[in-house]
Amino acid sequence: FKVPDIANEPMVTYAPGSPERKALVEAIREMEQQLPFEVPCVVNGKPVKTGKLAKQPMPWDHANHLCTYHEADEATVAAAIDGALAAKADWETLPWSDRAAIFLKAADLVSGKYRYKILAATMLGQGKNAWQAEIDAAAELADFLRFGVKYVEDLYSIQPPRNTPGSWNRTEYRALEGFVFAVSPFNFTAIGGNLVATPAIVGNVSVWKPSPAATYANYLVFKAFEEAGVPAGVIQFIPGPPVEVCAQVIAHPSFAALHFTGSTFVFKQLWKNVAANIDTYKSYPRLVGETGGKNFHLIHKSAEVKNAVMQTVRGAFEYQGQKCSALSRVYIASSLWNGGFKEQLLTEVAKLKVGPPQDFTNFIGPVIGRPAFDKITSYIQKAKDAGGEILIGGSGDDSKGYYVQPTVILTKDPRSVTMVEEIFGPVLTIYAYEDDDFDKTLELVDSTSQYGLTGAIFASERKALVHATNKLRNAAGNVYYNEKCTGAVVGQQPFGGARASGTNDKAGSMAIFYRFVSARSIKENF
Ligand code: GLU
Repeated sequence: FKVPDIANEPMVTYAPGSPERKALVEAIREMEQQLPFEVPCVVNGKPVKTGKLAKQPMPWDHANHLCTYHEADEATVAAAIDGALAAKADWETLPWSDRAAIFLKAADLVSGKYRYKILAATMLGQGKNAWQAEIDAAAELADFLRFGVKYVEDLYSIQPPRNTPGSWNRTEYRALEGFVFAVSPFNFTAIGGNLVATPAIVGNVSVWKPSPAATYANYLVFKAFEEAGVPAGVIQFIPGPPVEVCAQVIAHPSFAALHFTGSTFVFKQLWKNVAANIDTYKSYPRLVGETGGKNFHLIHKSAEVKNAVMQTVRGAFEYQGQKCSALSRVYIASSLWNGGFKEQLLTEVAKLKVGPPQDFTNFIGPVIGRPAFDKITSYIQKAKDAGGEILIGGSGDDSKGYYVQPTVILTKDPRSVTMVEEIFGPVLTIYAYEDDDFDKTLELVDSTSQYGLTGAIFASERKALVHATNKLRNAAGNVYYNEKCTGAVVGQQPFGGARASGTNDKAGSMAIFYRFVSARSIKENF
C-alpha cells in the first residue's frame, strides 16, 4: 500500500455567477430556513440526548441561534470514555491501509459532498465570510487529513539505520495506551477535525469536546468522518460545559494525551489539572497545545510600502483578527510611516465593509460573542486611556450582532498594553521607530514577546531579513518574509510557536504525529 500523491486542496474563489457561488448561497439559504438545528452528543455511534440543552448563538444575529445542543453530563462523559477504550483494540489493530483509506475518504467528503454545508455552518455560526470559511473548513481540513495520512506513511517508514549480522531491528509506532482528549476552538472548524484525526490516523481513540461557539460546524465534520467509515466509539462527540467536562476527563486513569487549541489561560488550567492527577495515570500524558499569540510585522526602511500595507491589512483584519496567528502589532521605520504607509493603510482600512458574513461584499464580520466584544472594546478604551491615538475605527455596535470596527491605534509607548497583550479582535497597534534604531527595535520585539507564534519581516535588503531572523530566535515559530503573518498552509508551513503560544509541535507536519505514538523497538536474532 502506497499513499497516493498528495496535493493541497484547490481553493474555490466564489466568483460572482460561478456555480460554486450559487451552491454556497443555496446551502446558506437552506440552512437559514431550517435553523435552529438540534445536535446530540454521539457516543459509540449513537446519538445521546441528555436533555441538558445549550445554544450556539449566531454572532451576527445574537437573538437567534444556529443550534441547540445536548450537553454531555457526567454519565455521558463516562460512557464516552469507556466506549472509546472498548473500541481501541479493533481500531489500532486495523491494517494501517484501512485507517488511511478512511481518512482519505473523509478528506473527499469534507471537500466534496459536505463542503458547502460545513462552510455555511462556519459562516453562520462562527461569523466567517465565504473566503475565510473556504480556507478553513474546506481547504485546510481536507489538507490536514490527506497530508496527515502521508506523514504517517513517512513516520512508519522511519526505521533504525543499522542491523548487525544475524540480527534484525525494527521500530513499531503504536497508539498510546489509553485515550486522547481533544479540546477544539471556535476559530477554525478545520482544527476541530484535525485534533481528532491526527491521533486517530495512528490508531488512537479520542473523546472530543468542541468549542460551544463552533458546535454545529464541528458536528457536521464529525458526521462526515462517520460517513467515511470511522468506526463507532473511535471518536466520541461530547459538547458540554467546558470546566466540568475537562475536569472529569482529565481525572480518568486512562487519560493518555491532551490535544488542545485555545487560550493560553485554559491550556495552563488543564495542565494544572493534569499535574493534580499525575499519580493516577498509567503513563505520563502527552500535552500538546497551540494557544495564544501576539503576532508582529517588523517593517524595515528598505521595505516595499504598498505590499507591506496590503499584507498588514489582511494579517490584522481577516476574520476580525480572531486567528491565533493574527497580526496585532506593527513596528515600522518612521521614514516609511510618514512617507506614505500611514495614508495608504488608513485608505485601505476605510474600505473594509463590516456586516453579516453571508453578504459577500462584507470583509469584516462579527466577533464571536459577548465576552469577546466586551474584551476587545475594553482594550480600545485602555489604549485611549494610555494616550494611544485612534487613527481609524475605535467603536463597536452590539445591537444585532457583535461588530467591532477595524481599529488602528498609534502609540508612542512600545510597551503599552495593546502592544503586548493578546486582544483577539480587529485591533492593530502601530509603533514607528527611528530608521537607525533597527537593532534596538529587534531587542524590543524580542523582550516584549511573551508569546512566540508568528511574525513577518518586511525588507528588500536581504541582510535585514537575515539579521532580524537571527536575532528573533524565539519570538515566532512561523516567520514570513514580505508576507502577512497568517495563513500557514498544511504541508508547506508547519504551524506553531513556543513561549506562551504552545508546545510548538507543528500542526500540519510529521512532527506532531510523534506525540501520539508510543514507539517500541524490537530486536530479533536469526
Ligand atoms: N494556521 C492558522 C494560520 O496560520 C492559524 C490557526 C489558529 O488560529 O489557531 O493563520
